[in-house]
Amino acid sequence: MRYEMMLPHQIRTAIDEGWPVVLPLGVLEYHGEHMAVGMDTLAVVKIVEILEKGIDLVVLPPFYYGAASYAVEAPEGKGSLHVGAEALLPFAQEMFRGLLRIGFRSIHAFIHHQTENFSVGMPTDLAFKLAARQAIFAFLEKERGEGWWGDAKMADYYQQQSAGDDPFNWIKIHPLLTAEMIRTRYPFDHAGEGETSLMLSLCPEAVDMRHFTDGTWYTAGAKQASKKLGDKGRDVILAEMRRILSPRPVPLAKSAKRPRRWKKD
Ligand SMILES: [Zn+2]
Repeated sequence: MRYEMMLPHQIRTAIDEGWPVVLPLGVLEYHGEHMAVGMDTLAVVKIVEILEKGIDLVVLPPFYYGAASYAVEAPEGKGSLHVGAEALLPFAQEMFRGLLRIGFRSIHAFIHHQTENFSVGMPTDLAFKLAARQAIFAFLEKERGEGWWGDAKMADYYQQQSAGDDPFNWIKIHPLLTAEMIRTRYPFDHAGEGETSLMLSLCPEAVDMRHFTDGTWYTAGAKQASKKLGDKGRDVILAEMRRILSPRPVPLAKSAKRPRRWKKD
């Protein structure tokens, strides 16, 4: 469900049943003359729209104002909109703290922009990753007081962690295309064959090849773009996101209500 459309009783159900909360995260950046500047974010938004039809999800309004950088093109007349990571960090920290206070404990941001370097990190994802960590520390300290980690109640911390259930899993940032997908299953590029195909599949109104111009190395492959390749990328991404967001049993102590389920089961 789209968060902005949810009534409070629906929000409480989502919290009690442990629905994942998904934040499409991205930028506005020049993607050649043939493609919309929102591509990186639109890819996540459109994939999440498909997923949401089959899984109980809370979908937050997308965040488009990441650190696009002007590495591809200067912004004048081209459309890239860069907001520096220093400005993103306090915003993201407040947002994550707010989501934790509402009661959500399974928050997932998905990002496509510059994620060929995801394991090392780039400014937008690094800002949100750091903000997530800081928000969790601040939240726990406020709720439980200093010394919360050393308290006897936390003696099973490492067991919890190995089961993937420690507080630092409450917020996670994921790439839309994983390193494994990029290596073996889908071409990663900027406004080339891979991204243009993905848009032809997910959001064809964001592509207009009549405006394609030659002359930039990174867009040259766009001429080979096809909906067919984009459909393949879409399916690879959907499979991985379903794995990440698939329903896990909610421990009874944490939720006395029924566990989350697949809608189409
Ligand atoms: Zn892109």
